[in-house]
Amino acid sequence: MHYGHALRFGALTDRTELIEELGYDLAMVPEWTSLSFLAGRTGRIQLAGGVLDVTERNAAVIGRSAAGLDLLTGGRVALVLGTSGEAAGLAEAVDVIRAIWDPSAPRADYEGVHHRLSAAETGPAPAHAVPIWVAGDDLAVLEVAGRKADGWVASFDPERAECVRVGNKIVDEAAVAAGRDPREIRRVLVVTGEVPASVLDDGVSTVVVRTDDAAALERFARETVPALRAAAPAGLSDRPVRPASALARRRGGIDYDGVPESLAADAIEPGDPAYPRVRSNYLRGGAPGLLLFPRDPAQVVDALAFARRHPTLPLGVRSGGHGVSGRSTNDGGIVIDLRHLNAIEVLDEATRRVRIGPGARWKEVAAALRPHGWAIGSGDYGGVGVGGLATAGGIGFLSRKHGLTIDKLRAVEIVLADGSLVRADDTENPDLFWAVRGAGANFGIVTSFEFEADEVTDVGWAQLVLDASDQAGFLRRFGEVAARTPRDTTAFLIMGPPRRGQPAVAQIMAMVDSADPDVIIEQLQPFAGVSGLYQQQVVVTAYADVMASAPDGDHHGQGEPVARSAFVREITPAFAQAAADMLASGAVFFFQIRSVGGAVADVPAGATAYAHRDAVFQVTAMGIDDKRLDRIWETNREHFDGLYLSFETGLGKLADAFPPATLARLRDLKRHYDPANVFRDNFNIRDAK
Ligand SMILES: Cc1cc2nc3c(=O)[nH]c(=O)nc-3n(C[C@H](O)[C@H](O)[C@H](O)COP(=O)(O)OP(=O)(O)OC[C@H]3O[C@@H](n4cnc5c(N)ncnc54)[C@H](O)[C@@H]3O)c2cc1C
Repeated sequence: MHYGHALRFGALTDRTELIEELGYDLAMVPEWTSLSFLAGRTGRIQLAGGVLDVTERNAAVIGRSAAGLDLLTGGRVALVLGTSGEAAGLAEAVDVIRAIWDPSAPRADYEGVHHRLSAAETGPAPAHAVPIWVAGDDLAVLEVAGRKADGWVASFDPERAECVRVGNKIVDEAAVAAGRDPREIRRVLVVTGEVPASVLDDGVSTVVVRTDDAAALERFARETVPALRAAAPAGLSDRPVRPASALARRRGGIDYDGVPESLAADAIEPGDPAYPRVRSNYLRGGAPGLLLFPRDPAQVVDALAFARRHPTLPLGVRSGGHGVSGRSTNDGGIVIDLRHLNAIEVLDEATRRVRIGPGARWKEVAAALRPHGWAIGSGDYGGVGVGGLATAGGIGFLSRKHGLTIDKLRAVEIVLADGSLVRADDTENPDLFWAVRGAGANFGIVTSFEFEADEVTDVGWAQLVLDASDQAGFLRRFGEVAARTPRDTTAFLIMGPPRRGQPAVAQIMAMVDSADPDVIIEQLQPFAGVSGLYQQQVVVTAYADVMASAPDGDHHGQGEPVARSAFVREITPAFAQAAADMLASGAVFFFQIRSVGGAVADVPAGATAYAHRDAVFQVTAMGIDDKRLDRIWETNREHFDGLYLSFETGLGKLADAFPPATLARLRDLKRHYDPANVFRDNFNIRDAK
C-alpha cells in the first residue's frame, strides 16, 4: 500500500549542515529554539522542529514563529505538533495556526475549549503552505491527523512493527469520515537504527533517522537510502494531493493533472491556501487558473511548454508583479511566476559585470551592489522586479547621469517561444538583444540579465514639498529648472488634483549623483526655488537606502489599473496648462513627470527597441475610469511624442510606444522568434496592424 508521495529521507539531529551535504531532504531539529540558527547554515533542506507540545505553548505564537521562520528560509519549514494533553486541544491548535496564517482576513476569532483567539491580528503568512504534521500514536491523535493534518509522524518500534499499518488505517478512516482523501496525509516514520524496507509497504513515505552520530548519518545516506529507494513502488511523485474543496475551484480548460512533475510540487491553484497571496499584482486584481513557480531555466522551459498546450488561455509572465498594465496576472489563465529566479551574482569584479535573476527586486539588487560601491539605476521604487523593468526601459534617479537600466544591460538568457534557451548580446543573437531592450515581453522569458554596474558612491537625495496653488505656473517653472539641470541630477515630480480647502502641493524627489554636500546643495537650490517651500528633506545616503523603503509582502491589487503615459520634449506653457486642466477635471488622481534626457539621449534612437531617446520628460497620469481619462488625454495629444509602455495600460497603443521604423523591425523579429504569438498578453506587437 502507498499514498503516492515521493520518498524523502530525514534525520532527527541538529547536524543540519552535515545532513544537507549528505543529500538528506529533511532536518528535524530536536530543539525548536535552535532551528532558526541552524536554518541559517543551510540553503536547501526542509526544516522541522522536534514535536511541539501544544499544551505547553500558545498555538498563535507557534503559528507566528513558524511563519516567520518559513519567510526567513524561503519556504522550507514543516511544523510538527503533538500533545501531552487532550487530542481535542491538538485539533484546536491546528485550526488556530491556520487562522493565524490566513492572509485573507486581517483578524481572527476562535472559540475553542483549549485555545481561543479574540480579534487576533493575523499574519505573518508563511512563504509557502507550511505542512502541519501531527505526532503520536494515541487513537485520538491519529484521528486528528486524519481529520486535519498534512502528515502523521510515528516512531518505529521493531517490537510492534504492525503499529504503522494499524495507525495508517485509523488515519485513513478519520480522513475519509472528514471528507478528505487519505493521500493528502504524508506518513513520516522516525527510526532508531535499522529500518525494514517493509515499512514502505505500510505507506511510509518519509523516513527519519534519529541520531547525532556522523558515521551513522553517513551510513544511512549511503546504504539505507539507496536500499529503500530500490524497494519503493513505482509511480511515486511530489504532486500534492488536493482536497475535494480545492479541486472544485479549478478553472476550465487547464490540464491540471498534466502539470510537469518538475513544477507540480510548487504549483498553486485557486483552491490552495496560498492562492490569495499570489493571485494579484501590485496594481491589478487577478484570478488565474494556475500559477507555476519555476526554480531554474529548465523549469521555465517546462512551464512554457505546458502553457503552450493551452493556446487559448491568457499567459502571464511575472517577475516582481509591479507591471502597471497588470498583465503578469490574468483571469482563468496561466501565470509563470519567476520569483525563485532571484540570484544576484558578481561575475567579474574588474568590469563590474553582474548577473541578476528576473525575480530579484531592485532594492535587493541595490543592497547587494552597495558593498562594492556600485549601483544599477532602476526606477524610483525598490519593490519593482528586475524582469519587467529591464525588458522595457528603466527610467530612474540615475538615468540622466548613467542612462536607462537597459543601457547597462550587456546580455540576457532568454527562453524563446519554441522552448529554446538562448543567449543574446551584441554578438550572439544581436537582433534579439536589440528587441529585448524595450520590447522584451513580446520575445520570450528572460531567465537572467547581465549588467555592467556603475560606480556610485553616496548620493544626495531630496524630497521637497512645494506650494502648487498655481499648478500650470508651477509645472512650467519645474520644467525650466529640470531641463537646465546638469546630468548628475534627476528629478521626478508628483502632483494630485486640487482639493477644496487644502493647499495644493507638489512633491519633487531628486537625486544628485554626488556625495559632496556643496554640489548637492548647488544642484538642488533651483528646485527649492520653483515656488514656496513647505517642507524639505535632503540627505547624503547610499542609493540602496533610497531603494530600501519599499516594503516586502504580497500583492493585493484590485480591479483594473488605468494609466496613460507620454513623452514630451518641453514643458511648454500650453502643456503646463493642459496638465493643470487634466488635474482639475477629476479624471486624474495621480500625475507624475520624470526627467530623462542626459545620458539617455546619448544612445542613438535605433540602438535599442526603446527609441524615444530625445524626450526630455516622461509623463504619467493615473485615473479610475479608462474612457474618461482617455478622452482628456487624447485632447492633449498635440503635446505628446510617444509613450513609455511601463506606465501605460492602453495595450493597443503600439504606434505611440514605438516609432514606425522600430515597430516594423519589431514585427519582423516577432514573426521570426514568436510565429505562434505565444507572448501576446502585454502590448502585443503582432496584433496591432
Ligand atoms: C510603484 C511603481 C513604481 C514604478 N516606478 C518606475 C520607475 O521609476 N521607472 C520605471 O521605468 N518604471 C517604473 N515602474 C514601472 C515598472 O518598471 C514596470 O511596471 C515593470 O514592468 C515592473 O516590473 P515587474 O517585474 O515588477 O512587473 P511584472 O508585473 O512581474 O512584469 C511586468 C511585465 O513585464 C513582462 N515580464 C516580466 N518579467 C519578464 C521576463 N523575465 N521576461 C520577459 N518579460 C517579462 C511581462 O509582460 C509582465 O506582464 C513602476 C511601477 C510601479 C508599480
